[in-house]
Amino acid sequence: MNTICVYCSSSNAVAPHYFEAAREFGRLMAARGLELVYGGGSIGLMGELARAVHEHQGRVVGVIPVSLRLKEVAYEAADELIVTKDLRERKAIMDQRAEAFVALPGGFGTLEETIEILTLKQLHYHAKPVVFLNTSGFYDALLQFFEQFYREKFVKEKNRHLYHVAATPEAVFAYLDTYQPPKTEGKWFA
Ligand code: AMP
Repeated sequence: MNTICVYCSSSNAVAPHYFEAAREFGRLMAARGLELVYGGGSIGLMGELARAVHEHQGRVVGVIPVSLRLKEVAYEAADELIVTKDLRERKAIMDQRAEAFVALPGGFGTLEETIEILTLKQLHYHAKPVVFLNTSGFYDALLQFFEQFYREKFVKEKNRHLYHVAATPEAVFAYLDTYQPPKTEGKWFA
């Protein structure tokens, strides 16, 4: 595995332990020689992550829509900064380049990107790993909501294996190191 796509918060106002986890994740990526592909922002956990990868001699690829770059929130120090015409083109490039997807804590943007990549996996467009880094239980409420999907048969029980939940940055890499595409079923109930 060479390249990981990370989705995470663009907020500068979240608690320090989220920044610490983002920094640690970036450090471990670089130590393992893994290239970062991400939304190209310089703010929030996105910026913290990119700077941590760089501080440890890793490679950073940012993929940013032209409108966000103009708002001066781009991480111009990226080794490669790909400027796209819109958000959709950006996501397509991130999808193609990465061999795994990791969601650190984030808001609507992070959730939207993560759910889209999960949806594509559910429909067998790809079989790459998707991991939630559940720092301090940040994703617990969302995971509880997913349980309702299985209970009420909005999603097949087996499809919980489409994603993995890791409590720490180290646990993300432990999962990726041994990843085997899950045997999921067709999306639809007969
Ligand atoms: P949010 O979770 O709402 O803070 O949005 C963060 C996610 O949306 C990231 O994974 C990015 O890919 C994208 N995103 C949101 N804001 C920015 C920004 N200022 N620059 C680059 N990407 C952003």
